[in-house]
Amino acid sequence: DSADYDSEVESICPFCGVGCQVSLKVKDGKVKYVDGINGPANEGRLCVKGRFGFDYIHHKHRVTKPLIRREDAPGKGLNVDPENWQTHFREASWDEALDFAAAGMKGRGREIAGFGSAKCTNEEAYLFQKLIRQGFGHNNVDHCTRLCHASSVAALMENVGSGAVTATFNEIENADVAIVIGANPVENHPVAATFFKQFTKRGGKLIVMDPRGQALKRFASHMLQFRPGADVSMLNAIMHTIVEEGLYDQQYIDAYTENWGAEKAHLADFSPEAMAPICGIEAEVLRDVARTFAGAKAAMIFWGMGVSQHIHGTDNSRCLISLALMTGQVGRPGSGLHPLRGQNNVQGASDAGLIPMFLPDYQPVTDDGVRAAFTSVWGSEDFSKEKGLTVTEIMDAVHDGAIKGMYVLGENPAMSDPDVEHARSALAKLDHLVVQDIFITETANYADVILPASAFAEKSGTVTNTNRQVQMGRPAVPPPGEAREDWWIEVELAKRLGLGWSYESPADVFAEMKQNMRSLENITWERLMEQNAVTYPSLSPEDPGQAIVFGEGFPRPDGRARFTPASVIAPDDVPDADYPMILTTGRQLEHWHTGSMTRRSAVLDGLEPEANCSLHPSTLRKLGVAPGEHVVLTTKRGSISIMAREDRAVAPDMVFVPFAYVEAAANVLTNPAIDPYGKIPEFKFSAVRVEKA
Ligand code: SF4
Repeated sequence: DSADYDSEVESICPFCGVGCQVSLKVKDGKVKYVDGINGPANEGRLCVKGRFGFDYIHHKHRVTKPLIRREDAPGKGLNVDPENWQTHFREASWDEALDFAAAGMKGRGREIAGFGSAKCTNEEAYLFQKLIRQGFGHNNVDHCTRLCHASSVAALMENVGSGAVTATFNEIENADVAIVIGANPVENHPVAATFFKQFTKRGGKLIVMDPRGQALKRFASHMLQFRPGADVSMLNAIMHTIVEEGLYDQQYIDAYTENWGAEKAHLADFSPEAMAPICGIEAEVLRDVARTFAGAKAAMIFWGMGVSQHIHGTDNSRCLISLALMTGQVGRPGSGLHPLRGQNNVQGASDAGLIPMFLPDYQPVTDDGVRAAFTSVWGSEDFSKEKGLTVTEIMDAVHDGAIKGMYVLGENPAMSDPDVEHARSALAKLDHLVVQDIFITETANYADVILPASAFAEKSGTVTNTNRQVQMGRPAVPPPGEAREDWWIEVELAKRLGLGWSYESPADVFAEMKQNMRSLENITWERLMEQNAVTYPSLSPEDPGQAIVFGEGFPRPDGRARFTPASVIAPDDVPDADYPMILTTGRQLEHWHTGSMTRRSAVLDGLEPEANCSLHPSTLRKLGVAPGEHVVLTTKRGSISIMAREDRAVAPDMVFVPFAYVEAAANVLTNPAIDPYGKIPEFKFSAVRVEKA
């Protein structure tokens, strides 16, 4: 009822990569409630987070003034009470805080590194990477894509020539078969999951592959609950069957691919009969899945972090790409490869160059011509041609003494990094830490200066969802107190670093981005203000954008995609007598990542107020633990005490821990070993001991 609110503003949900469009209803200067509107991804739908998870923006813990660490503060990293922060910090004016932040970084070159954020807008991500590259002359700038889909992007770039999805998830309406592997969309991409369920109601065959059972199981034609870490064995066995039974699409392979001979020869060793004991799926089921997928008129493959967060994450994605290529399932309606992106702007932040090896649009920093094109637009000197350090490598470099200061915008490595005590001790070692955020996060506990930033409902800017849809976010309410939009803070810092920036709005930044980003061709700020969303690539000012790409070849040499054979690599931290079970981590429906927003949202926190882990009933019985009681989880990195929940979806030798809870932080336990290509940590597999508390 329009009497319920004074104004309504269209924007984008800040949580997952589905990118649902929302209408923010404002009364008395506050967002009162949220409705879904007809965006291209959500068609009016919202999940519980999008509908009820907005009130954190008005939470009493918001940082409303710039804060500088007091000289007499107790040690860095102590838990700062958000309602009694005065013992650690003192208020400062913006001028003092910005001067202080800049003075601690200026002229220090490689001693300074930056973590940007997938929660910020494209313009803010672009400015952040520019600030590090132009301001310090190197590429040590990264963000949480490293912890999310870096291995998927590495495999897609290598074999398809582009890191983004080849088709929107909504294309499932034109498919007759779909694989969902290592993803739990009902919890993590809930609105996308509603389209997946509808697809099965129309007769589509849904093949779900996951070591953990999940709600989509009820809709699946095949549920393959395989052994954790056995993805490559299972996928190679499926492809072996396709080769052995001649089910591949030779015409497509000849027209659009290379290296098929090597792939075919490699797969000879992976018969379903040989792989069945390794992956825990019967050979006949593997053969049936192969026939079902290869027999589809149109088929899609969706994957999540169950695929990417392994030391063999890139190999997992290589297999999925090969499976799609050998069956010709790319580039047509209802076909395609779709890594379901996590954060609402992880696609856009990556596109905008917030990664250490690429400038915007995945243009390599190692290419002299590429750097020259950017420095010419920036009016600045050349910067390093060396690929920069990634998220976890930056923390190692802090321990080694090479990096001494950091600028962290909206990330929370003190909760999100693997083996988090390693990250926390690195943050404590820094001599200058600038944190820009909306709350005093666990990372801000280590800050020398905190710059109060804006939440999604307080800022202008574009974000890009998992579907490659560039969408317009608009402010509905002003930031509280003296908090400011993030782009403004970045510009003011850059001025003090001597970079001569003069942007007056995010629209100015977007206009500059367009000069070196072909993905934004035909997409203008004005167009987005009018239409809310345009999918890239957009072929003309009238084209709403291409939902499907690569129907006529790939952005690789000779237009050909590549088969890259994948071998089996064991997980890094395998169970033994001391740590006999397998730990896996992830998200749950009600909470988002490190919990800084959703645990301050009344409805969401009310639904899931307590740190919990999931164990099979037989495991609980063996431990003598009743559901609701606590268990102690111990790995080689550390130990947490956490409430146990009974869950038949988890195998008897596994424990699942959501990573949103600081009081039982899952990443105290996780293994920092990384995939050699995507440099992503193995969050999905650690050896663990589970004991009654
Ligand atoms: Fe927000 Fe994702 Fe839920 Fe949509 S599905 S409302 S984008 S959290």
